[in-house]
Amino acid sequence: MARRKKIYEGKAKTLYEGPEPGTIVQYFKDDATAFNAEKRDVIEGKGVLNNILSEFFMLGLGQIGVPTHFLKRLNMREQLVRSCEIIPLEVIVRNHAAGSICKRLGLEEGTQLPRPIVEYCYKDDALGDPLVTEEHIAAFGWASQQDMDDILSLALRVNDFMSGVMLAVGIKLVDFKIEIGRIYDGDFQRLVIADEISPDSCRLWDQKTGQKLDKDVFRRDLGNLTDAYSEVARRLGVMPTNPPAAGKPTLVN
Ligand code: UDP
Repeated sequence: MARRKKIYEGKAKTLYEGPEPGTIVQYFKDDATAFNAEKRDVIEGKGVLNNILSEFFMLGLGQIGVPTHFLKRLNMREQLVRSCEIIPLEVIVRNHAAGSICKRLGLEEGTQLPRPIVEYCYKDDALGDPLVTEEHIAAFGWASQQDMDDILSLALRVNDFMSGVMLAVGIKLVDFKIEIGRIYDGDFQRLVIADEISPDSCRLWDQKTGQKLDKDVFRRDLGNLTDAYSEVARRLGVMPTNPPAAGKPTLVN
């Protein structure tokens, strides 16, 4: 295979120049990081599962008219996406209290919030992705007021879609993070859901048992992360045919 030009290497994905102008190949790695990369490990099969799960969610969003950067999955670890300019915000939607909001507001983990709450963090690893308000976003020009109206509406549509899809398979969508990209068509720009949507960026709890099926399994050492993500994929009917974490080959007589 011809050598491809690497554009960017992140914590969980590497981006390569795509085959056509305006396209990018996203390669999903097995690397897991938490607490601003202070905790790290390689979790065999995680990249394969996130690639397939993100494809599933992005395609579903496309089917209900929510624009995404997703074009097609290329293989078990790679997908082709439209190149876009990432708005430097992590857009977080919360349905139940977990993680940082519990610490910040003294809420008990699992408390149902009165309504979905959308928060914005400024994407900057060195600063630990601080929470920012719309005032900061407007003042520093990260997004316009029109962008913010569109981002809020996109975030809530993604939340309704994801909550419904998860509810149907007995999983509670506690919270999630999305990233938004700008795509330019001449002078015209539109916003799309970019990056990935996977158990790396969501909190997913079993409806009945409360079992965690997301990256908190890694953050808090609660068990095998690939097993948790495989359970999500299995319930959604997208489990890869060759389970990535099948372990060592066994001799067949
Ligand atoms: N999240 C993420 N990337 C980040 C920060 C948060 O994907 O850099 C996700 C996280 O997995 C959770 C949601 O956003 O589903 C809310 O995260 P929170 O603010 O509680 O952050 P945490 O305390 O987990 O770092």
